[in-house]
Amino acid sequence: MSEFNLVRYPVMPLRDMVLFPGMIAPLVVGRKNSVRALEHAMEQHSLIFLVAQKEAGVDDPQAADLHRCGVLATVIQLLRLPDGTIKALVEGKRRAEVAAYIECSDFLRADLSEQPDTEAEHPDLPAYSRELRRAFADYIKISRQKIPSEITKVAAVMENPARLADLLCAHVQLPSGVKQELLETIALPDRLRRLIELLYREIELDELEKSIETKVRKRLADNQRNYYLGEKVKEIQQEMGHVPDDHSELQAALEKKNMPEAAREKALKELAKLKAMPPMSAESTVVRNYLDVLISLPWTEKSETKIDIEEAERILDQDHHGLKKTKERILEYLAVQAQVEKIRGPIICLVGPPGVGKTSICKSIAKAMNRKFVRISLGGMRDEAEIRGHRRTYIGAMPGKIIHAMQRAEVINPVFCLDEVDKMSVDFRGDPSAALLEVLDPEQNSAFNDHYLDLDYDLSEVFFIATANSLHSIPLPLQDRMEIIRLSGYTEEEKLRIAQEYLAPKQLERNGFAPDDIVFEEAAVLEIVRRYTREAGVRDLERTIASICRKVARDRLQKKEPERKYQLGSAAVSGYLGVPKHRYGLAEKEDETGLVTGLAWTEVGGELLQIETALMPGTGKLTITGKLGEVMQESAQAALACVRSRAERLGLDPGFYQKLDIHVHVPEGAIPKDGPSAGITMATSIVSALLKVPVDRQLAMTGEITLRGRVLPIGGLTEKLLAAKRGGISRVILPKENERDLEEVPTNVRTSLDIALVEHVDEVFSQALLLDKGEVLFHDQPLSAPIPAALITVPAGAVPVQRA
Ligand code: ADP
Repeated sequence: MSEFNLVRYPVMPLRDMVLFPGMIAPLVVGRKNSVRALEHAMEQHSLIFLVAQKEAGVDDPQAADLHRCGVLATVIQLLRLPDGTIKALVEGKRRAEVAAYIECSDFLRADLSEQPDTEAEHPDLPAYSRELRRAFADYIKISRQKIPSEITKVAAVMENPARLADLLCAHVQLPSGVKQELLETIALPDRLRRLIELLYREIELDELEKSIETKVRKRLADNQRNYYLGEKVKEIQQEMGHVPDDHSELQAALEKKNMPEAAREKALKELAKLKAMPPMSAESTVVRNYLDVLISLPWTEKSETKIDIEEAERILDQDHHGLKKTKERILEYLAVQAQVEKIRGPIICLVGPPGVGKTSICKSIAKAMNRKFVRISLGGMRDEAEIRGHRRTYIGAMPGKIIHAMQRAEVINPVFCLDEVDKMSVDFRGDPSAALLEVLDPEQNSAFNDHYLDLDYDLSEVFFIATANSLHSIPLPLQDRMEIIRLSGYTEEEKLRIAQEYLAPKQLERNGFAPDDIVFEEAAVLEIVRRYTREAGVRDLERTIASICRKVARDRLQKKEPERKYQLGSAAVSGYLGVPKHRYGLAEKEDETGLVTGLAWTEVGGELLQIETALMPGTGKLTITGKLGEVMQESAQAALACVRSRAERLGLDPGFYQKLDIHVHVPEGAIPKDGPSAGITMATSIVSALLKVPVDRQLAMTGEITLRGRVLPIGGLTEKLLAAKRGGISRVILPKENERDLEEVPTNVRTSLDIALVEHVDEVFSQALLLDKGEVLFHDQPLSAPIPAALITVPAGAVPVQRA
């Protein structure tokens, strides 16, 4: 740059704008110095130097605030606006560089040297120009910047690369810093290259921006769509009265719940499924229910258990009167459990008639061990799925009773009472006892598989106790796993104590009385026991006491004496309860022929069983009625055969049966009866009818009979003797072989009965039949057993009985 070329021009600073040669731009000029510079240029017809400020924000720029490269421009037009500002139209002419700024009082001036483009003949320029045009064409396709169509047209035909570059620099949207840099690039190839680069970068950025924008827009649209639909569903649900759910509660409950890893994994999977489901679908209900079960089931929660034998004994005694042997067995069992860590070995099974306290003992055991108590009844269960549950694929599937009970228990170590294990039955839907076997097997029950849960569940900490009314209907494999503890019925004295000390106080409290509001006198309780209930246990007794309590409560209110105390004797009880349900005392008023009292044993305890025989002229038919089971019918036939074979000895016509029809009936015909133990009773009844000799009405008997007249032992002895005592019987005939079982019978029962132990049916006959004075029963030697000497000594002059 030579000193000679320097020319002095007025300077006008431009805020935030870079002017290029060839560019016509309108300017609104307000700054005083700028206005003066413009006016000066206008007046002098000179060019004006337009240069960009370094910082657009500076209001009164000095030399240092300005770039040194700008454009010399002509002022094409000037328009003075009323507020003193000027609107000017300027056209950039040539690049110029400042040699020196000269500060003057009116406006800034500068000594400039013009900067012609260099390397204008560079051989690559045509190629650059072409590329630049292509880039520009792409740019206007993509860019959102509106470029006037004239410009594009001009650009398309512009030959001069320098002009083309400046034209594009002027119109493409670029930051002013970049524009200034382009202005300062004097070497043409460099300027073109730089511009091409910038255009392509802009195109790329634009493309990126657009793709991001489409994505964002799509996401927004999707979100909006989902949001809209979701809101609509919520609205519909609310219209229908459903509260919309976001599963957050479920999730929180799941997170809080302590469960094994496998269960947690499954639960989380199901929760994810649930979230993806439409909330009203049937399937979502299924999954929800499943999750609810998983959450409500105890997986690790435990009660702190302890076994303190003395404390356990105290609790058992406190809750139950008597039952000494049972309690002892239970305490022994608990003592063993206290020594081993895990429950192993057989589980307890309490067997006995209803109402003897089996369930309530289970509860006391739970209390003694400080465990929770749950109970399920297996009575009538015939479907394996009731224990194991149904697979979730079935509509309305539920967990089985075991898992259900565990949900109720809320801990993994409750005392679990399996009531009525003897009442399960098998049918085509599978065998529930097989499933129960798995539950009770300590080897298997740590991974119990419920079909619904479809996860292994640990039952190994559960303390199982079973109860049953009779042993014989419990499947053998199950019996194998059990330690049987028998409970027989109660004697009258025991019932009296239980009623006064346990049942009455309990019912008084339940019915809102103070402990001394009603006093049941001994006579009152005995009245209830004898005439209003006939049972082995005390369930009916408790029910009757409860019913009296209710009647007393009503009485008090009706008479408006809410504070009145009641002392109930037997008459008061009869007054409340009405006509007695049972006769107490002798079963029959008179000794009758053909009518014998047997002792039967049923699941509800011992019973007195009347057996009667009637004879009619006929052809030797034997009819047996009274809903007797197969065994009992056969037993009747055996009894008849035995009698027939002893006809001669009994003084009967050996062909008696050909001329007679024999009908044996067991009253209470609607109740099914079975078993062999009425054998001697039926034989006695037949003989009594045939001989027309009455039978002692104070006598009851039990024993199986063989064809040869041997008397075989029977079961349920205690129950039967209790029933005999209840029924007012004073003499009992029992098989000799049952002698050892008598030890089990409460002493007061044993001593209050006159018990004859027999081995042969002849002994039964001679004990039971009431011969008139002088009559003899047997007319020859016994057939198969020696007759006790006492029976053979016939008084002198005795007449043989001959009544057939
Ligand atoms: P089970 O289960 O044998 O049918 P429960 O356990 O239901 O009989 O007993 C019936 C009622 O009799 C319960 O209220 C129980 O407390 C009471 N009970 C039974 N035996 C006794 C007893 N020995 N002492 C006190 N109450 C008893």
